[in-house]
Amino acid sequence: MAETIFSKIVRKEIPADILYEDNLCLAFRDINPQAPVHILVIPKEPIAKLSDIESKDHALMGHLLLTVKRVAEQEGLTNGYRVVINCNHDGGQTVDHLHLHILGGRQMTWPPG
Ligand code: AMP
Repeated sequence: MAETIFSKIVRKEIPADILYEDNLCLAFRDINPQAPVHILVIPKEPIAKLSDIESKDHALMGHLLLTVKRVAEQEGLTNGYRVVINCNHDGGQTVDHLHLHILGGRQMTWPPG
């Protein structure tokens, strides 16, 4: 997989506003927030995109969702929030390192653009 800016954030080679970290994942604020709260949760393992995950990744994927819940609670998103995974070109993915967006702090609308 090609190196991305998120691998550099995992290795602390570039700064990020990190909210949570453990041995499997990292959560940090999005640099270009689309909502009052906009956080990215990424695996430390550089999986490029959702369509690349395999059966062996099932525990990791569950861990990422549990981390979403943990960080959303930490941020006080008691009224709810949206979780987004953009996958590949048509999904609007721009950074080729799997990431879950947590968007909150305002009313979300549907359908998304
Ligand atoms: P996506 O379009 O789903 O691939 O989302 C990529 C996200 O990464 C965008 O919301 C960007 O604003 C965000 N982003 C890009 N570079 C950084 C960075 N250095 N620190 C934090 N967020 C970033």
